[in-house]
Amino acid sequence: MCTTGKDIVCRAAVAWEPHKPLSIEQITVAPPKAHEVRIKILATGICGSDSSVLKEIITSKFPVILGHEGIGVVESIGPGVTCVKPGDKVIPLFMPQCGSCRACHSSNSNFCEKNDLGAKAGLMQDKTSRFTCRGKPIYNLMGTSTFTEYTVVADIAVAKIDPKAPLESCLIGCGFATGYGAAVNTAKVTPGSTCAVFGLGGVGFSAIAGCKSAGASRIIGVGTHKDKYPKAIELGATECLNPKDYDKPIYEVICEKTNGGVDYAIECAGRIETMMNALQSTYCGSGVTVVLGLASPTERLPLDPLLLLTGRALKGSVYGGYKGEEVSKLVDDYMKKKINVSFLVSRTMKLDQINEAFALLSSGQGLRSIIEF
Ligand code: NAP
Ligand code: ZN
Ligand code: ZN
Repeated sequence: MCTTGKDIVCRAAVAWEPHKPLSIEQITVAPPKAHEVRIKILATGICGSDSSVLKEIITSKFPVILGHEGIGVVESIGPGVTCVKPGDKVIPLFMPQCGSCRACHSSNSNFCEKNDLGAKAGLMQDKTSRFTCRGKPIYNLMGTSTFTEYTVVADIAVAKIDPKAPLESCLIGCGFATGYGAAVNTAKVTPGSTCAVFGLGGVGFSAIAGCKSAGASRIIGVGTHKDKYPKAIELGATECLNPKDYDKPIYEVICEKTNGGVDYAIECAGRIETMMNALQSTYCGSGVTVVLGLASPTERLPLDPLLLLTGRALKGSVYGGYKGEEVSKLVDDYMKKKINVSFLVSRTMKLDQINEAFALLSSGQGLRSIIEF
């Protein structure tokens, strides 16, 4: 039955309030308006940032449909859409590419001004919602919302990819690209350099893969779950350290092991303490630190300017610095085995098990659970 131009009733995981489990509901997804694309979601990853929204580390409006690491097929398009057509396989982009803002015109930034990070609006570009549930409008997350059988995104927030792309390519929609790109695009890790990656979750493992691919000769993984170390080593880490094993700050341990500090540190834990340890673990004269994790909005870095004055740099990046136009190439590179994404998948689950997947993520066990629809 053709659904073009009609409401679609389908299942979704709705977050009615923070700090509560998601609820599997029947929702109505309105047809796409001008410059919008309705997507049938095939699979989605669950990112630390989805969990951070529920924990109110990232601000969002509620009720909301979370999820921003999806893969799907275009079901229908609104007037004026030229970049995709029904049947195309796509990855929704939480970092859009409008093509006309200052960031889109710059080769130095991917931070398109049309983004809705921090869910400032939680709505489509025209400030309305396409989701309703039990008679109430439901907000979206960062213009994507992938914990639903169908979603609607702006046409500036969709990347067309190879029709044969496997389902785990959804992780290129956030976690993989964020960590890998932080190493190769943001830090610009150089061959023979030393690196430290803090936080061994999905983003941290991807950062290790990025450091390895950039030719780093020493990669120190810092994390608290030792059962993940063998996999980190397999991926390219040369050693792993647990801060809990030492009675001094982990940055001191790293500086002692690396003749004064690493060249690059990448923070993927989302904690002020690990951000400061990352910065202080870099070489005072030239170290580069990239912060990817999000800490609570009320927390601040206790930063002594002297730490930077000696020559260190402190940077951050969203989505590994990748622009939307680069996503299809990342998928191609995965399909050609130039990069590895499947190593991130610890479990495959159904939508009904989504709260189990959140519990696993919060416990630090495994890397990514993927929900297949
Ligand atoms: P995740 O899978 O939950 O990983 C976070 C990891 O932090 C945990 O696995 C844990 O690893 C580690 N951790 C906790 N306490 C630690 C400590 N004391 N020292 C070192 N590591 C510690 O989450 P994720 O998806 O990888 O995301 C990581 C962070 O990046 C989150 O803050 C998320 O919001 C953020 N993020 C940012 C972007 C961006 O564009 N900038 C994109 C995606 C995600 P161990 O079990 O090994 O301790
Ligand atoms: Zn833009
Ligand atoms: Zn994410």
